[in-house]
Amino acid sequence: MRFSTRPEDKRWSTELVVVGGGPGGYSAAIRASHLGVDTVLVEEDALGGTCLNEGCIPSKALISATRLARRAESAGGMGVHADVRFETDETYGWKDEVVEGMRQGVGKLCKANGVTVVEGRGEFADESTVRVEGDGATTEVGFENAVVATGSRPIEADGFDFDGDGVLDSADALAEEPPEELVVVGAGYIGMELSTAFSSMGCEVTVVEAEEDILPGYDRDLARPVVKKAHEANVELRTGEPAVEWDDEEGQVVTSDGRIDADGVLVAVGRRPCAESVEPEKGGVETDERGFVRTEGGVGQTTNPSVYAVGDVSGEPLLAHTAAHEGVAVAETVAGVRDPEGGSEFVVPKVVYTSPEIATVGMSPTEAREEGHDVAVGEFRMGANGRALTLNETEGFVRVVVDDDTRRVLGGQAVCAEASELVAEIALAVETGATADDVARTVHAHPTLSEGVTEAVANTIGRAIHTLNR
Ligand SMILES: Cc1cc2nc3c(=O)[nH]c(=O)nc-3n(C[C@H](O)[C@H](O)[C@H](O)COP(=O)(O)OP(=O)(O)OC[C@H]3O[C@@H](n4cnc5c(N)ncnc54)[C@H](O)[C@@H]3O)c2cc1C
Repeated sequence: MRFSTRPEDKRWSTELVVVGGGPGGYSAAIRASHLGVDTVLVEEDALGGTCLNEGCIPSKALISATRLARRAESAGGMGVHADVRFETDETYGWKDEVVEGMRQGVGKLCKANGVTVVEGRGEFADESTVRVEGDGATTEVGFENAVVATGSRPIEADGFDFDGDGVLDSADALAEEPPEELVVVGAGYIGMELSTAFSSMGCEVTVVEAEEDILPGYDRDLARPVVKKAHEANVELRTGEPAVEWDDEEGQVVTSDGRIDADGVLVAVGRRPCAESVEPEKGGVETDERGFVRTEGGVGQTTNPSVYAVGDVSGEPLLAHTAAHEGVAVAETVAGVRDPEGGSEFVVPKVVYTSPEIATVGMSPTEAREEGHDVAVGEFRMGANGRALTLNETEGFVRVVVDDDTRRVLGGQAVCAEASELVAEIALAVETGATADDVARTVHAHPTLSEGVTEAVANTIGRAIHTLNR
């Protein structure tokens, strides 16, 4: 067994049972335990879920390694001349160590916080019992409250059946070294993040996207620098070209426009919920037409008032930090320290770990106008930021959206180095209702990339120093 012990009893009762040990489930379990709720966490595979084992963490580990290589390769102007060589098996080995260390960390956190972890598949036996099948035995857990946190899995595209060999899903691609010639079907965030990383490892990558642009749903101003960098990294982008099927015999991806030779194809066309694994109907839990667990109210209550759903299984956005926040909100509700009617609208930043990174939070200028705001939009180009220049990472910009009347920060978008870190400040401003004046008068250390955020905000109120005010 990978974690914890399972008691001998075959019938228990608990105040809270959480099914699924990803960021949604383990955050719910640990927070509930903090608050004195007797909690059982059921996981059939590995603690940490998709995020830790086959999503956020392994992908970002590989992306970091390839970024380091690209930075070294492009540092000639700084007088640094590096002959970069990839030993991909070592890179994958290092990535595995990072994942394993974190997985053990989650197990230790559960144990230290008094969460009882049970290995096995959890499914509803009835509206107040979860049955856990695992390790050749069955345990029935009677509950006062339950949380479904069973996550999501990749969608198979027509003509591309996942076989872990020719046709890969993101978990396969992150588990084994990429093939020499790879076609990536889907230019959403997962497809674009992985294609740039694999190309930097020496893989020949072609991205095929049915829509006319990469990163559908993202503002074109944000996508443009990513397209430029992808071209520089020799990633071939074929947009407006739907993929039709994988021809295993010929080793080719058939598209609407022809055939592309490949040793393998990574299909990254989206994810679907894993609700059916808990047999929701037996628990009185309804799902919608797309298979997501139906929830209502602020904190993910399902059609069974004692059962909550959090994370990917409960719907968009499918992000680890949303799952974790929802898990905490449910735990606090169950423990009685949070008003279930109080709502749980979160300000959710979204990041794409491409080169450069894209990050957004709150409203875009268009969304703000549609909501009836008179907006002031401030922008700062990172080419004028001292830290960006000293890092030799000058592409992109930060943009913020401020309400012209109240001067409250409504949102922001960035495409630049470390946009993932910069967005945290804008998220804080939106969440706390800070005004442009609050952000502009907050002293930011110099030289830092975060000065780009202050300058963009100051630009909305005519106070920017390092760019012309609008
Ligand atoms: C390649 C990739 C990169 C990603 N990068 C990012 C990123 O950078 N940032 C970000 O925010 N998100 C990212 N995501 C998305 C993120 O991984 C998910 O949003 C997040 O993992 C959802 O958490 P969750 O707790 O809802 O579900 P999951 O993490 O999917 O966990 C669900 C768990 O439930 C278990 N389970 C399922 N059914 C049962 C059952 N019946 N009994 C017991 N256990 C069960 C599963 O084994 C799994 O461990 C990425 C995803 C992928 C695939």
